[in-house]
Amino acid sequence: MAELMGNQKVYKKGNSLLEIRGNNKSSHKVLQRIRSVYKGVQGLIENDPLSKALDDLLIEPNSTEREPQFILRDHVVDEIDRLKDDELNRYLRYRYMYDVYPINKILSEYPPLVQIEPTSICNYRCIFCYQIDPRLTNKKNSHMGIMDLQLFKSLVDELEGKVEAISLASRGEPTINKMLPEMLNYLEGKFLAVKVNTNASLLDETISRAILDADIQTLVFSADAAVEPLYSQLRVGGSLDKITQNIERFHKLKNKHYSDSRLITRVSGVYYQDEQKIEDMEAYWKDLVDQVAFVDYNPWENVYDADVNGIIKPCSDLWRRLFVWWDGRVNPCDVDYLSTLSDERFPDRSITEIWRGETFESLRKNHLKSKRQGLKPCAGCALV
Ligand code: SF4
Repeated sequence: MAELMGNQKVYKKGNSLLEIRGNNKSSHKVLQRIRSVYKGVQGLIENDPLSKALDDLLIEPNSTEREPQFILRDHVVDEIDRLKDDELNRYLRYRYMYDVYPINKILSEYPPLVQIEPTSICNYRCIFCYQIDPRLTNKKNSHMGIMDLQLFKSLVDELEGKVEAISLASRGEPTINKMLPEMLNYLEGKFLAVKVNTNASLLDETISRAILDADIQTLVFSADAAVEPLYSQLRVGGSLDKITQNIERFHKLKNKHYSDSRLITRVSGVYYQDEQKIEDMEAYWKDLVDQVAFVDYNPWENVYDADVNGIIKPCSDLWRRLFVWWDGRVNPCDVDYLSTLSDERFPDRSITEIWRGETFESLRKNHLKSKRQGLKPCAGCALV
């Protein structure tokens, strides 16, 4: 990356973007492009999320008309900048639903984002992660496993054309699943916002090439520090040297053999203690990735035993995303890593049936009635 320029701060609680820095494209330039693509376009359907998105984006800069709900945050500007004009309709529709539907509590036909877990197994034991809870990792409790390729394919078959955002990330380290290259290959060309999260410890050349071949949109390297021993104190089982070598190899490969790649790379850490400085992260990673970010800490590692926190605002994720785990279990979030909030399963029921069905609706109703403090683990979770 030539130079880090942007600096956007967004303060939200619980696994939300806290701060991101990168060489952002100008939002002005991207908005100009959107204006020119949609100038004079007729026949947009009034309540379609695309019309709604454009209503907000095309408000004149100094207008006192109203506050737009849909604004382009820096990393979204970067994503749009890499899209072709004929992909804008799909992307803006998705992004409006992702950002604004949770604010207005509008339930879409399909979740705007589906997170798929290639495996629940992880080779790290980070101090802020549920992987340190033996109730999750003890094999007898049947939470540990690896997703079968056929299950993955049938899930993708249902989601194609209905959902734009897929993240291969949840409780485990995706690269542990040996079928990951086949999974990436199967996703190719089907979605506009595919993201993979990895701790980069197993990122060898084969997996790197599979990621680059698949033309996915975002690759997140999870790392919380730029110095030792802080890195390995937080990421227990990991080594900063090792992941730096792997990320360096990835970066060289991308530059040398995939110069047309649209992939955005990001190092993202959980902001857990004061010693972690975004400036250190920028200085260390800036030549290897496009963006550096921190997400806010949520008490993942002890959420079932955490104190009731008094938050009554409904959880936005209930209108934004769902999680499909390696064995087909479907859960509203991975904060509830023991799957106590749902016993739904794919393919017993389709994703849209589960998303709009009684288990998820009952949870939403409880949250809307300010009853989340009576629910575990919502009562100890910081996400709003
Ligand atoms: S635990 Fe409850 S409040 Fe937290 S993310 Fe899950 S559903 Fe939302």
